[in-house]
Amino acid sequence: MGLINITKNIFTQEIAIDLGTANTLIMHRNKIIVDLPSIIAIDVRTNNVLAVGEEAKEMQGKTHKNIKIFKPLKDGVIADYQVAELMIKEFINKIPGINKKIFTPSLIMVICIPSGITEVEKRAVKDSAQHLNAKEVYLIEEPMAAAIGSGLSVTKAEGNMIIDIGGGTTECGVIALGGIVCKKSIKIAGDVFTNDIAYFLKNKYNLYIGERTAEKIKIDIGAAIEDIDDTPDDIHIQGIDLPTGKPKEMNLSYQEIIPALDKSIVRIEDAVMETLSNTPPELAADIYKTGIYMAGGGSLLRGLDIRLSKKTGLSVSLVEDPLRAVVKGTGVALKNIDKFTFLMK
Ligand code: ADP
Ligand code: MG
Repeated sequence: MGLINITKNIFTQEIAIDLGTANTLIMHRNKIIVDLPSIIAIDVRTNNVLAVGEEAKEMQGKTHKNIKIFKPLKDGVIADYQVAELMIKEFINKIPGINKKIFTPSLIMVICIPSGITEVEKRAVKDSAQHLNAKEVYLIEEPMAAAIGSGLSVTKAEGNMIIDIGGGTTECGVIALGGIVCKKSIKIAGDVFTNDIAYFLKNKYNLYIGERTAEKIKIDIGAAIEDIDDTPDDIHIQGIDLPTGKPKEMNLSYQEIIPALDKSIVRIEDAVMETLSNTPPELAADIYKTGIYMAGGGSLLRGLDIRLSKKTGLSVSLVEDPLRAVVKGTGVALKNIDKFTFLMK
């Protein structure tokens, strides 16, 4: 490493952030060093941060009046800037070498944002980054980061379609020549699937369950279609019987969950169809050849790829590392700040 590089490393640090509604990931020196739920627990009396990430997630549904759990990026928008900034600060402080007491290096950051956010929200994200000692901030839109992180060529005269199903939003984008040609972002994604399951159990069985249990059911047995290869075993669940308030337990099969998720999946199908119909014909021809790529935690729902493939008549494949594709792509962008003209300053 040359002297110039060493000085650069002391005075500035480069980080890539995927600010997801469900999970925040940070890449530093080619490594993912933060991969945690976008959740923060605050003591309302003192405003002190009690926990972030996994620890804060575990507190969910178990707090008393003095502890408040925030998901500052709920539903695909930044619901609370101050809290979001506080959370990002905690995450950045987890990076070794950045939280130096004597000397805090300034940061060069590339931050991935949902493609549906407004100019005002973009401004706010940049302001927050500047409060955190960022000297240069670049923004990258989610479909672009997901495509790059999935190893797709984004700068060629070839169309690629990527669907990123996260916690709060589903983002469909068609990418070619280093830009997003058409896109659609809807606020139906993994967290809505979770709510669908809780709602279904309440309606059908008068069973009241918490969000964490609902998410576990979704991950353990959730499916988009009946006809899947690895059918999961029934699971045993516990909740509260609504009329009596007593604890209640029951077994649940994967088949039962499918209709509960149907309405939300239809909304995702519609968004994909709309994006396809807005795709210029030359690019559509490319997509017919390569198929559609899918990323994000929500894309892991069993059989969702097959269902979307049936709906579109195209092949649909999950990218290699669906939960990390976006941060990886943001990390690649960080290394190519000069070359990637689509980064927003
Ligand atoms: P975001 O980018 O919005 O932070 P992620 O891409 O990290 O979202 O995905 C988070 C969502 O994926 C959550 O709703 C989570 O419940 C869901 N998820 C994670 N793993 C699975 C799985 N195996 N099956 C279904 N959903 C999953
Ligand atoms: Mg994401």
